[in-house]
Amino acid sequence: MTGRLRGVSVAVVGAGVAGLGFAIAAARRGAEVEVIEQARGLAGDAGAGIQISPNGAVVLRALGLGAALKAAGLPAEAVALFDGIGGRQLARLDLRRYAAGSAAGSAAGSAAGSAAGSAAGAGYYFLHRADLVGMLAEAAVAAGVRLRLGEAAAGIGLAQDRPQVRLDSGDALCSDLVIGADGVTSAVRQALNGVVAPWFTGHAAWRAVIRETLDKDAVAEVHMGPGRHVVSYPVRGGRWRNIVAVERRAAWLAEGWSHADDPAHLRAAFAGFSPRVRGWLSRVDAAGIWGLYRHPVARHWYRALPKGGVALLGDAVHPTLPFLAQGANMALEDAWVLAAALDRDGITEPGLAAYRAARIDRVRRIVAGADGNARLYHLRAPWRQGAQLAFQVAGLVAPGRMLGRYDWIWGHDVTAG
Ligand code: FAD
Repeated sequence: MTGRLRGVSVAVVGAGVAGLGFAIAAARRGAEVEVIEQARGLAGDAGAGIQISPNGAVVLRALGLGAALKAAGLPAEAVALFDGIGGRQLARLDLRRYAAGSAAGSAAGSAAGSAAGSAAGAGYYFLHRADLVGMLAEAAVAAGVRLRLGEAAAGIGLAQDRPQVRLDSGDALCSDLVIGADGVTSAVRQALNGVVAPWFTGHAAWRAVIRETLDKDAVAEVHMGPGRHVVSYPVRGGRWRNIVAVERRAAWLAEGWSHADDPAHLRAAFAGFSPRVRGWLSRVDAAGIWGLYRHPVARHWYRALPKGGVALLGDAVHPTLPFLAQGANMALEDAWVLAAALDRDGITEPGLAAYRAARIDRVRRIVAGADGNARLYHLRAPWRQGAQLAFQVAGLVAPGRMLGRYDWIWGHDVTAG
C-alpha cells in the first residue's frame, strides 16, 4: 500500500539540500510540510561549487527539477588529475559517458551493478550551491511547503506520542514526523544519539570563487602536491570558477563553514604550485577557511514513537569529507529513499528501519572512499612519484577502467526501485 504520507504533518529542521529535497518528495506525496531554517536567507553567495553526479541528478529529475538542473548546471566534460607542482596532467577521466541521455550511460550503469537500476544517463553537472538550493526552495514552495526562515530548532521532544520541535523563540511545534536535516552540527542527531565529539582530520580547506574567467572548459581539475591539493571547476556557464584548496595542518580550527581568511594566506600555502594554480589564486579577493572534522556515521538514524517518528538525513546522519563530492548527492538519495519508504509503510518502525537498511552500507562505503582520497591526494615523496606514475599509466592505458571505479557511486539510481 502506498500513499501513507498523505495528510501527515512534517516538520523539517534545516533548509539545505537534504531538508528541501525531502520536503519536495513528501509534499508531492500529499504531506503537509514546513521547513524550519535558522538562516534568514537561503545560501548566500559564499564561494562554493557543487558537483551533482548522475546518482543525485536522477533524484532531482524525479523531483521535477530536470529542466532547472540543465538551466543552472554546467554539463561536466571531465575530471583531470595534475601534478600540482610541475603542472603536468597525469590522467583525464572523460565524464561525457554520464551526459544526460547518453547511450554510453546505460553501459556505465550496468557496470554499476546497482540493484536499484542505472542513473548513469542522468547527467553530471557543476553548479553554484546557491543555485542548487534556490531551485530546491522554489520547487518546495510550489509543492505547498511552508518555509520558516530565521527560526532555529533549540531541541527535540521525544517524550510524547508525537515528536516536538522546540524553537529558539520558545514556541514548540508538534507534528507526525520530524526530519533532522540540520547538517554536521545537528541538534536532532544529538537528541537521538547523545553528544558524540567529532575529531579534527588534520585538514584545513579554503573555498573561494573567482569571476569572469576566460577558461570555460567544463573540467574539474585536481592539482595534487605534498600535503595539499586544489580542486577547481567552472560554474554559472563558465562565468565563475569555484576553488577549494586543502592543506594538511596540525592546528585545530573551529568546526564550521564560514571563517573569513586573508587570501594572502591561501596564496602563500600554494606558492610552490604551478603557474596555473597560482594564476587562479592571484585573483581571489575573498576566501573562507574551515577545519575538516569527521563524525562517525550516526548509530541511531531514527526513533519511532507511538504516533509518529523522527529521522535524520544528509550530513546530520553521515557527514563526509568532501573528497568524493558526494555529500549533497547522498543527501538527495536519502531524501528520496526515506519519502518512498514512509509513503509505503507509514511512519512506523518498519518504514524507518527500511530507510536505514537501504542506505547504511552505501553511505559507509562512500564516507570511507572520501577518507581514502584524502590520503591519496596528499602523498609525500617518494610515494608521491609512485602514485603519480600509477595515475599516469592507468589514465593512458585504461581510462575507461579508471573511470569505471566510480560507476557504483554515480550509476546508482534510488528512484528506480
Ligand atoms: P547542510 O547543507 O549543512 O544544511 C543544513 C541546514 O540546516 C543549513 O541550512 C543550516 O543553517 C540549517 N540548520 C542547522 N541547524 C539548525 C537548527 N538548529 N535550526 C534550524 N536550522 C538549522 N557534496 C556533493 O555532493 N558534491 C560536491 O561537489 C560537494 N562539494 C563540497 C565542497 C565543499 C567545500 C563542502 C564543504 C562540501 C561539499 N559537498 C559536496 C558536501 C555537501 O555540501 C553537503 O554534504 C551537503 O550540503 C549536505 O546537505 P545537508 O542538507 O545535509 O546539510
